[in-house]
Amino acid sequence: MIHRNSLTQLAAGLRAKKFSSVELVRAYLQRIEASQPALNAFISVTAAQALEAAAAADRDLAAGRGGALAGVPIAHKDLFCTAGVRTTCGSRMLDNFVSPYDATVVAKLKAAGAVTLGKLNMDEFAMGSSNETSYYGPVRNPWNPDFVPGGSSGGSAAAVAARLVPAATATDTGGSIRQPAALCGITGVKPTYGRVSRYGMIAFASSLDQAGVLAASAQDAALMLREMAGFDPRDSTSVDTPVPDYLAALDAPLAGVKVGLIKEFFDEGLDRESERRVREALAVLERLGASLREVSLQNLPRSVPVYYVVAPAECSSNLARYDGVRFGHRCKDPRDLQDLYRRSRGEGFGAEVKRRIMTGTYVLSAGYYDAYYLKAQRVRQLIAADFKRAFGEVDVLAGPTSPTAAFRIGAKTADPITMYLNDIYTIGANLAGLPALSVPCGFVDGLPVGLQIVGPHFAEARILNVAHRYQLETDWHLKAPERFA
Ligand code: GLN
Repeated sequence: MIHRNSLTQLAAGLRAKKFSSVELVRAYLQRIEASQPALNAFISVTAAQALEAAAAADRDLAAGRGGALAGVPIAHKDLFCTAGVRTTCGSRMLDNFVSPYDATVVAKLKAAGAVTLGKLNMDEFAMGSSNETSYYGPVRNPWNPDFVPGGSSGGSAAAVAARLVPAATATDTGGSIRQPAALCGITGVKPTYGRVSRYGMIAFASSLDQAGVLAASAQDAALMLREMAGFDPRDSTSVDTPVPDYLAALDAPLAGVKVGLIKEFFDEGLDRESERRVREALAVLERLGASLREVSLQNLPRSVPVYYVVAPAECSSNLARYDGVRFGHRCKDPRDLQDLYRRSRGEGFGAEVKRRIMTGTYVLSAGYYDAYYLKAQRVRQLIAADFKRAFGEVDVLAGPTSPTAAFRIGAKTADPITMYLNDIYTIGANLAGLPALSVPCGFVDGLPVGLQIVGPHFAEARILNVAHRYQLETDWHLKAPERFA
């Protein structure tokens, strides 16, 4: 039952020679294979490369070498470029794309000794909240296969929840780490914008995209993040500040920590049972010595409309590079250049991606730029200022991660707006570039619910500390879906 170990335990067990990396990798590969028809969490499984890397890790471990994650199996969301292994971004457009280089996150985790088992399913170009926009089919929620796992990092979240890997990389542009973490009952951390390099991470909305981690606990997430974070000269938005030891700060007591409850998050859109779970979790923090007070962030309710101007605008520009010429899908027998562009893009992109490109092109076009894009950027500043003011009063902010627990596959696909509203509680942190995480805090009708904690810029250590202390008091993060226990 090797898969019941946490990432932290696996790393220690490997070092203590309780098991070998090859053994570990074999066991997880078997679980992945067995789960694939039910969950569809993976787009590519790289068994041969994984076994080779595991053997190399075992040699390192035997010689007393190897990084903090030596021999530990993980997997990457399929938008991190991996040299020699295809990176699809969940899209037909990149179905045949093999990157010639590794993303910085991939390279760093490799350098720490982690062994990659494959590439995880996701919403197409990370656009979605349910993993239903993937060209490779929907991912299913391990707690109930009729329900979505959340998105866009649905494959990463389902894989960790079903213990197909102890941890996975993911990205969060408007909630894509935290919302699937909540819906799958695991821990998800979106770091400060600029904390983790975006080099080699296929761009969706460059001012919002941030790489992070999905894991079983805050402790495991801290271990991963410590290896992923840091300045990268190849990413001009990566910030050159030292990475603290996220593990060292985990145990700090919560006495005196001021937690602000975001008033606007406890609105009529929040499911009442989910609210109860979140309030119970807040009571635990209070018992641990934290003080709670309500904080109002007036402009926060505008975050969804602001995001759905800014994100499509940036995506329309980022996705212009897929023209059928240099890489990605190319249509058959184009008549001329226009036809090549039109049909390659028409065939390569799915409906949601096209919707965003059209919205984005519209809000950026002459005459509409001021009315939409510029205005959205202004409101974005107001939202960031609200957060800044709040962090003058409290150390962290807390609230629900998602308005409801997971919904049924197909329930929201017909109406993009209902789907977009799923991120109503997560988008604010992206607009302001803040670190935020989600931890499991109970169940509603057998489906997990998440508590969200948001911190000031570069306060990853603080939010991980709050999450870890909460997890020392509760066991929601230890629960696994029966079929995958
Ligand atoms: N669900 C949001 C969207 O569809 C956020 C996605 C993300 O964070 N990548 O854009």
